Amino acid sequence: MNLKNPIEPLTEKTDGLSRRDALKLMGISPIAASVLAGTSVTEAKASSDAKGKIVIVGGGAGGIMAMAHLRSSLSNPDITIIAPNETHLYQPGQIFIAAGVYEPDEIEMSNKNFIPDDVKWIKDEVKAFDPDNNSLTLRGGEELSYDYLVVATGLQYRYEWIEGLTKEDIGTHGISSVYLNDLEKGTHEGGELTWEWFNALKQAAKEGKKPRAIYTHPNTPIKCGGAPQKILYLSADYLKKDGLSAEFIFATSNASLFSLKNVDEELHRTQKGYEGMSTKFQHNLISIDVQKKIATFGHFYQEQGEWDPDFEMYETFDHYEKVDMEYDFIHIVPPMSAVDTVVDSSLSWQKGTAKGWLEVDNETLQHRRYKNVFGIGDICGIPMGKTGGSTRHHAPIVAANLISAMEGKELKEKFDGYTVCPLKVNYGEIIMAEFNYDGPASSVPFWKDVSVPRSVWWAFDVYMLKPMYQHLMMRGWM
Ligand SMILES: Cc1cc2nc3c(=O)[nH]c(=O)nc-3n(C[C@H](O)[C@H](O)[C@H](O)COP(=O)(O)OP(=O)(O)OC[C@H]3O[C@@H](n4cnc5c(N)ncnc54)[C@H](O)[C@@H]3O)c2cc1C
Repeated sequence: MNLKNPIEPLTEKTDGLSRRDALKLMGISPIAASVLAGTSVTEAKASSDAKGKIVIVGGGAGGIMAMAHLRSSLSNPDITIIAPNETHLYQPGQIFIAAGVYEPDEIEMSNKNFIPDDVKWIKDEVKAFDPDNNSLTLRGGEELSYDYLVVATGLQYRYEWIEGLTKEDIGTHGISSVYLNDLEKGTHEGGELTWEWFNALKQAAKEGKKPRAIYTHPNTPIKCGGAPQKILYLSADYLKKDGLSAEFIFATSNASLFSLKNVDEELHRTQKGYEGMSTKFQHNLISIDVQKKIATFGHFYQEQGEWDPDFEMYETFDHYEKVDMEYDFIHIVPPMSAVDTVVDSSLSWQKGTAKGWLEVDNETLQHRRYKNVFGIGDICGIPMGKTGGSTRHHAPIVAANLISAMEGKELKEKFDGYTVCPLKVNYGEIIMAEFNYDGPASSVPFWKDVSVPRSVWWAFDVYMLKPMYQHLMMRGWM
């Protein structure tokens, strides 16, 4: 394996931490070992003398992982990363801030520690892509050309698509949203505001008001699809610990709690364990009256009609209605889309359900029309993903396939659709729902059933994942 030390000098938080130390830190538990084992792509680590100017756009999880894998796989890497952010957020930790488990500054990392000196770091943003001319324009006006491009811009929140809501309303009038952050500035208000919200909800319950709390899930693809329910169960458990409850309404645009049957059934059981919890399926938040505390949902449903003897099936009728719900507290998950720079470029899908997202192949992650362009992370217009877990699996595949493209060889590595949803069903247990294009895909060979809530996953998520992210994933070591 051709591994380079990608980070010099190291800061006090990571000082002197070698891969062996990092593994020791995790105690090489069976879980960590199996998770590690599940990620190796041997080709990506083979040294290659291929040459070409690689530009990576985005300095979040995907951009840094792609950079690290490419750098350790090329003997003469020529890599430029365009990343405006000095601060790098460990975004999954926003949930633990919301739940009062992490202190806010625990999720802040520094890109300086991830981007080594031999990688050119442009602290700017891409304003426009011009893939027909292998070039792009920076916000500062400079034009930059490339031989190979990796798009790692992540996605964009669309709070403004909810009529009546502005970002400034979050943290006021009983409104919260764990997602709220500014990746360029490195701020993560959503975590802190939601922790205050948990406590305000508990206070209202203590005062004997039986408050009504609504939790939304929009009808667009979202990053970390489990986050809406994580906030639901953690806040309910936070009250339950003190013998308190509320009216907890999960208003989701989906028709089920989870796409995997076993996990869906387990989540129904979880909901039964919380007094006052119910779900409104196919309810999509469309507008809100912040002052009056009324949320309006678009509700789609089908009704069965007469038996049709010709087609030998019942007729069905589609219905749509607007439903108003009053609330005391509401946790809003914003609609999300690809970032404007990608939407507005010819790199995006021009039509279909993935319109606006990066048009890459589901397996090779190579752009379907621009063969010198690859995608990683949330921006990819593929059926599964939008998690850090998927991004970690993308990274060695993108590196290996990009190098194959540089060498004029066939692209051999294939993404299997792996994604992971660590569903926090209470303070102390997580359902680690791992799956891919074919169905459940547990990383732990002796735990095939991914629907079982386990306390060991809670400990793993709280204590081990962040150091693994910081010391291993960001260095391309897993
Ligand atoms: C609350 C929350 C909880 C989560 N929980 C989990 C979890 O438990 N497990 C899990 O696996 N994942 C989780 N995730 C998802 C995970 O954080 C993302 O899937 C992952 O960060 C995706 O990596 P990315 O590189 O695609 O995007 P990001 O990490 O978001 O990075 C994108 C970067 O691109 C930059 N950028 C955007 N536009 C431009 C431009 N034009 N030019 C240059 N740079 C640009 C942005 O500033 C940003 O720094 C969670 C996310 C959130 C918000």
